Amino acid sequence: MLRFGVEEIPESGMEVSHDLPRSWVEPLVGPQYFGRDDVVKASFALNRAGHTVIVRGQIAGGLGFVCSRCAEEASLQIDHSFTHVFVEVAARATSVPGEIGEDDDLEVTYYDGDTVDLEPLASEEIVLALPVAPKCSENCRGICQQCGTNLNEGPCACASDVVDPRWARLKELKI
Ligand SMILES: [Zn+2]
Ligand SMILES: [Zn+2]
Repeated sequence: MLRFGVEEIPESGMEVSHDLPRSWVEPLVGPQYFGRDDVVKASFALNRAGHTVIVRGQIAGGLGFVCSRCAEEASLQIDHSFTHVFVEVAARATSVPGEIGEDDDLEVTYYDGDTVDLEPLASEEIVLALPVAPKCSENCRGICQQCGTNLNEGPCACASDVVDPRWARLKELKI
């Protein structure tokens, strides 16, 4: 869906954007994530110098997820930008990386033939854009290991039974 003929990319550049369907996003992002009604959109600005294509991309949109601590559903916005360079295999030996490779954020893919495919790039970047263990909030208290109460909604009855062993010793001393 995101394959472009290199010769068709004008040297002056072109922009494309594509809505990434849920059916495409969901298998990539792991079971803790799921698509919502918001569209996840990939936008690319392509520039070409000879057979080298520079791609500035952005993936933006909303996804739902299950909090890794409390298991409640929440959602997050992705807004992830990246730059990627496609270099023709034939040019590999002769030139480029010295010049382009100085920027650590710049990744290079070697392509063969006369098209560049941005779909694998979009898959890779959407995964990079997402935390492995998403949380509903930085301060999520999670669920009680003993009774399963969601501690964001208030303390549970067992909270007071769990005593730090150091305090337990102090208690003994006082008695
Ligand atoms: Zn949570
Ligand atoms: Zn509890």
